[in-house]
Amino acid sequence: MSQDAPDKGQTPGEGLPPSPEAWDLCPAAVRASGVAVCLWDGQGRLILANPAFERLFARGQGQAVGRPLLEFFNPASQEMVLRQVLPALAHGVAAGAQAPGPGQDQPPGPASGQGWEGELVGQTAQGRQFPLWLRADAAPGQEGRPRFGLGFLWDISRQKALENELRQSQARYLSMLGDQIELICRSGPDGALTFVNEAYCRFFGKTRQELLGHAFLPTFPGDDGLALARHLASLNRDNPLGSIEHRVVLPDGQVRWLKWTTRVIHDRGGDFAEFQSVGRDITERRQAEDELREARAHLEQRVAKRTAALEDTNQRLAQVVGELQAAQEEQRRLSFLDGLTGVANRRFLDQQLDLEWRRAARERASLAVVMVDIDQFKAFNDTYGHLAGDDCLRRVAVALAQVLRRPADFLARYGGEEFAAVLPGTGLEGALLLAEQMRGQVEGLAIVHISSTLAPVATVSLGVAARVPANHDDPQAVIAAADTALYQAKQAGRNRVASAGQD
Ligand code: GH3
Ligand code: MG
Ligand code: MG
Repeated sequence: MSQDAPDKGQTPGEGLPPSPEAWDLCPAAVRASGVAVCLWDGQGRLILANPAFERLFARGQGQAVGRPLLEFFNPASQEMVLRQVLPALAHGVAAGAQAPGPGQDQPPGPASGQGWEGELVGQTAQGRQFPLWLRADAAPGQEGRPRFGLGFLWDISRQKALENELRQSQARYLSMLGDQIELICRSGPDGALTFVNEAYCRFFGKTRQELLGHAFLPTFPGDDGLALARHLASLNRDNPLGSIEHRVVLPDGQVRWLKWTTRVIHDRGGDFAEFQSVGRDITERRQAEDELREARAHLEQRVAKRTAALEDTNQRLAQVVGELQAAQEEQRRLSFLDGLTGVANRRFLDQQLDLEWRRAARERASLAVVMVDIDQFKAFNDTYGHLAGDDCLRRVAVALAQVLRRPADFLARYGGEEFAAVLPGTGLEGALLLAEQMRGQVEGLAIVHISSTLAPVATVSLGVAARVPANHDDPQAVIAAADTALYQAKQAGRNRVASAGQD
């Protein structure tokens, strides 16, 4: 704000006509103005040029006045001045129409209304040329003829340079878009395309003329068009960028996959302005993905089949292993059993006796053995045959085993028609009781033995021995003792129990 500015709240230019004194300031103002101003007479010679004019055309002080107006333009612009500017001033009609200002995009030529305004090329005394904007007006003389012309001139080199730069950058940008292999398009609020690049035209087999200005829609298979419309509708100011993959049917019938990335642009008022989309043909990628998916599904199927087969094999294997284990168990059991009578065999007797003997040693407990022998069995065989003898052996074994009740007690076939009962944790007295029960049990079977000199039925003699194992004692010692007792029972008349006594 300068000191000359009106104060006391007076708004400049509002209802205040310029005073005649103010007009007197005009020459000084023109002289001081930074805008080049000149006046020329009816012969086209300058009669006034302000310092800014002299500076613009690189003339010394007072060097411009008196020179012809044409001298300040290049040959082409001189032509313009002669053919358009001066005639426009001469035929100037009613004032009042607006003319465009400097830098505005309007082709040079007569402005509508009085005066002329346009772009020309200026020329300094040294021949340097530069773009300028001229506003020319006529001061009407007698009979409407121009008395003199008034010109305002602006150097527009900078604007022109900027314009040039902008044009070049635009051209570069467009050619760049044009060269992209991606499909690029822009469309306005009405859906009409405002830009498409070469790749876009090529892809859809259309010319730019066919595409621009229209809302172009290719053919979509299935719901792909609907999906695309929904996708575009989902873009807004908060979510301005998105991408979608969809298929299109090309004019030759080919179905291709496109992937689009679209940005929605809004104007300053926040209203939708345009979609800018970049698309890419991803058909090969999608095909590769499909193939991969298929291959994976196939593989998974094969793996599933293999797994099922494997599980089947495993099951069968488990079954076989189970059978084998059962067979082995049976084998093991059989290897400890006497094949004829089904009671434990001699091998089991030896092993188990050993174990029980050591346990008895640890626990300082008594262990008893009862040796049993069928009386006059040779005669039985001789009378009834060997098979009947075998049968008698089986029945005697069952009868003897029935007497044993404790879990640790067991009966074994010692050999021939002899059995041994092992009674862990049993003293002589208890063992004698059991032996007597055994004897009675066999007699109770009442197996007819006609050739026996002792009884009409089969009988047994039993020898009993019991020991608390001492250090380094051999379990066979108790067997031997029981055997000795058995011998004594035989000697004493058979069908009885004898004991070796406890030592
Ligand atoms: P003792 O009263 O003195 O014991 O007379 P014994 O005839 O029973 O004794 P001996 O040792 O003279 O005869 C045993 C008989 O037992 C001889 C044999 O034929 C018979 N014997 C041994 N093992 C078997 C067998 O597995 N089956 C059958 N049927 N007989 C057997
Ligand atoms: Mg015998
Ligand atoms: Mg015998």
